[in-house]
This record gives sequence, C-alpha cells and structure tokens, in this order.
Amino acid sequence: MKHFLSGVAKQLATSEALIRPITMAADFFMSARGCLVTFHRGASAQAWEKLPNRDFYLDLDFLDQFLSYLTHRGWDVVTMEEALRRSALGRANDRFINFSIDDCYRDTFEQVVPLFRRHDLPVTLFVTTGIPDATLPLWAAGLEDVLLTHDRVMFEDGAVDVATFEDKNAAFHRVAGQWDGPHAAACYVEFCKLNDIDIDAMHWKHAISWEMLEALRDDPLVEIGAHTVSHPHVSSLTPERARAELQGSRDRLIEKLGIPCRHFAFPYGRSADCGPRDFEIARDSGFVSAATTRKGLMRSGQDAFDLPRNTINGAHRSLATMELHLTGLTGAAARMTGRV
Ligand SMILES: [Zn+2]
Repeated sequence: MKHFLSGVAKQLATSEALIRPITMAADFFMSARGCLVTFHRGASAQAWEKLPNRDFYLDLDFLDQFLSYLTHRGWDVVTMEEALRRSALGRANDRFINFSIDDCYRDTFEQVVPLFRRHDLPVTLFVTTGIPDATLPLWAAGLEDVLLTHDRVMFEDGAVDVATFEDKNAAFHRVAGQWDGPHAAACYVEFCKLNDIDIDAMHWKHAISWEMLEALRDDPLVEIGAHTVSHPHVSSLTPERARAELQGSRDRLIEKLGIPCRHFAFPYGRSADCGPRDFEIARDSGFVSAATTRKGLMRSGQDAFDLPRNTINGAHRSLATMELHLTGLTGAAARMTGRV
C-alpha cells in the first residue's frame, strides 16, 4: 500500500511538472504554430556512429524520416522569409517549420541540401563567411578528422592511442576542451605539424567553398543568410567589432553571391551570447530578421530580431523528441528551468 501510494505521489509530481508546460503551450495549438530548427553538419547513420564529435552532426537518415513525417503530419516546410510572413499573418491552425544549417561545411553542399532537394523542400543556410574565405581555422573539424582516421595521434605531450570509438570520442572532448578559446588556432597549427597534416587540404576537405555557394544560390529551394565572419560570441564584442562581424558577413555574401542576404543567425545563440544591443546591431546592419538558439515557437507578434530556434544536432534522433519541439514543450521547459 505504502509502495502504491508513493507511486501515486510520484505520478502526481510528474504530472504537475508536465501540466504547466502543457498549459503554457496550449495557446499555440489553435493559433499559428511556427517552429524554427537548426543544426550544423550532417552524416549518414553509418558514418554518424563512428564520428568522434558526432553530437555536432545530424543523422541524415533520421532527417530523411523526419521530413517525411512532417509532410505526413501537415506541417509546411518553409523559408525564413515565408516563416516571418506566416507568423505575421497568424492564421488559425497554420503549421510551418523552417530548417536552417549554421556555419556551412562541405557536407551542406554534398549531402544536406541534396536531401532537402529529394523531398522538394526549402532550407536556409546561415554562412560564416570566414569558412569559404579560409580565414576561420576549422580546428574542431581537423582534430576530429585526424582522430577518426588514425589509430595513434601525436600531441605536444606525447602519442595517444585512439584505436576505438571510445578512445577517439574521449580524446576529442578532452583536447577540444583544452584548445577552446583564443589559442585554438595556434594549438591546431602545432598539432597538424606533429601529425604531418596539410592544414590547407584539411580545411577544404571540410569547408564549403564560394563555388559551392554559387551553385546553391541558384537553387530555388535554398535561402542564404549570414552567421558572422569569424563565429564569435557577439555579446562579448565591442559595438564596433560586433557591427563588423554582422555587417561584414552580410556585405561579403552580397559581394560574392549577389543575393539580398536578409536574414541572420547569432553564433551559439543563447541568452549569454546575444542580447538586445546585438538585436539592434542586426537591425542596423540591414537584416530583416535575426535568430537565436533559445528554444520555443514563433509567437504571433514575434520580434523578428529575437527569433527562437531549436537545435536538433546529434543526440536528438527520435520523432518523439521532435514532437516536443513542435508543440513548444522544450521551449516552455527551458524557460521554466532557466536554460535559455
Ligand atoms: Zn554556428
């Protein structure tokens, strides 16, 4: 009996924890529901399993399944331009979702956009212009690549055996944690020397190029926006530096691709990474929208410079988890727990 009662109490506590977000999300059910989702890189399920930094990638077999599911469930996959228009209209029972790829690597061109094309669905790319300009060292991609393709890797303090996935995964997170910050580029140069890696060749093995972006620009299903020049935490910059990052990436995309470049996404994108000052800078830089990575749905009367977006990298490989994003429950839960 006691056991039964404690079970009931547990259930009640659980329902209490569940009810509030459900109530908070309920007002979305009848009105227009817009969901923005983002991820970085994509890999087939088979390749994904082996990647030392696999949580940075979306399993493309899962994305394939998710796109079919959305169409089946009556969701319209739209561009950011169309998401903003629909959000302003606020039509009852309207359901729309936008997918954006941040940073943009070679796999955006080779694998991710082709998958959207097979479904005849649009996708938005937020390009960090330092990647095709080769001014931004892709040290995490290079480190991961070397760990993936070697059984033994050299570091400054000696050789490390990385024969198994567990070894590679642990080494990636340990080293990335040590390098992260202003010294990352110098650490990476040293690491490439030690392991006899051609750093330029490694860059282009992972980077998207301007030629690839030109080809994507001509695809009617692809919308291209900006994601800064060097991928900084924008809120940590002086106003001048922040403006140079936002305006600089927009100008570069306009110059290289001849596109209007109307939309922007903040790197990292959580509350600590971008705030009201930065939303104003985005507006002044000529964008018509700016997206964060704060979870949640687009509300009617949504501020276009503080758009919520749900990150769906790596571990989120279930349709049930995706449903939580689509109902707004993950956003409501994040706000309740202060994870914004
Ligand atoms: Zn990014």
